[in-house]
Amino acid sequence: MIQIEDAFRILNTIVFHPEIEYIRLMNSLGRILAEDIISAISMPPFDKSAMDGYAISSNDTSEQFKIVETIAAGSVPSHTIKKGECAKIMTGAMVPPGTDRVVKVEVTREENGFMSITGEDKYLNICYCGEDVKPGDKILGKGQIIRPQEAGIIASMGTANVPVYKKPLVGIITTGSEIREPGETLSTGQIYNSNAYSIGAQVLQAGALVKYAGIVGDDINNIKNAIDSLLSETQMVLISGGVSMGDYDFVPQTLKELGVDLKFDKVAIQPGKPTVFGVRDKTLVFGMPGNPVSTFTIFEIFVKQMLYKLMGSVYTPMILKGTLRKDFKRKNAERTAYIPVKYSNDAFIDTLEYHGSAHLTALSSANALLSIPVGVKEIPQGSIAYVRQI
Ligand code: AMP
Ligand code: MG
Repeated sequence: MIQIEDAFRILNTIVFHPEIEYIRLMNSLGRILAEDIISAISMPPFDKSAMDGYAISSNDTSEQFKIVETIAAGSVPSHTIKKGECAKIMTGAMVPPGTDRVVKVEVTREENGFMSITGEDKYLNICYCGEDVKPGDKILGKGQIIRPQEAGIIASMGTANVPVYKKPLVGIITTGSEIREPGETLSTGQIYNSNAYSIGAQVLQAGALVKYAGIVGDDINNIKNAIDSLLSETQMVLISGGVSMGDYDFVPQTLKELGVDLKFDKVAIQPGKPTVFGVRDKTLVFGMPGNPVSTFTIFEIFVKQMLYKLMGSVYTPMILKGTLRKDFKRKNAERTAYIPVKYSNDAFIDTLEYHGSAHLTALSSANALLSIPVGVKEIPQGSIAYVRQI
């Protein structure tokens, strides 16, 4: 059994170079940029008015200003504005030569082709050429996730087709002769397959694709065949169940027989100690213990960061600082534990009623995981703790 830090170290040594594809910007939400975006243009591309108003020279103290033209957004000014003159100008329009100030319309009066200023306007109301972005500026970096704001930025550069990394395909396989699919009828001793669906959702939420291979009973040959096909067809294989010490836990042995280089096969983590991780060619494999909270947690702590790597990015969990509302105690402190908790808006951390790694419904009330390091048996009420949002 290795410590969790060693498991992270092993995972960190794995490198992956995903392929690139070009997609339409409208379809790019959640995708990972595969190239830096360098601006070819200035933003704004010209000095533009920030207000509807009148463009004048800030030195001009005339009582009245003759309106020599009206400049709409998108049109080019045709006059150089002289003393005693102004141009009526719309928000987003080019500021005409001879002016360096736009007086907002709210503090002006217009009469017989003349404008006079009726109130105070502290601002010049001009957005200057290149004040946001200059040509050659790196605006977005490769590996960044495209959120709505990034989609807008990419569009503002005039880029229609975005270079992104191809989505990895993740194979999911459920083992267990007692497992049945939702929709089927349960016989005595059987339970429904929750893992394939929670893992599948975790994969999709991260932004990858799922190839679901269904349930395979605890038969060594069937398990071997099912895993073998997924290993050759996908970039990552996630196996639920069959990794513990029971008579029918065939997964670790099968992986070895299939030529998977097992990098670790037991980690001091709770839940999820029997987790195995290995590599065959370029495909990563995780075997996760079948208890639903274990599978969920192992995905969150180990699998997710590797999936982000396959997607060409780096997973950075959201860490929240809070105060423990009640004492936390545990008997056994040999493993790093991850406890489902609820982080509330007043920054208190509440532990939840949690019966152990089969207690899937406890996860539904949780929005974070609290990690308890090896050797720590107690955390007193009122302690500051950092939790990881899930
Ligand atoms: P295993 O890791 O195969 O020893 O399974 C550990 C526990 O998790 C057993 O109680 C299984 O019945 C349960 N389990 C295994 N696979 C699943 C699954 N796909 N969905 C829900 N529970 C499961
Ligand atoms: Mg099993």
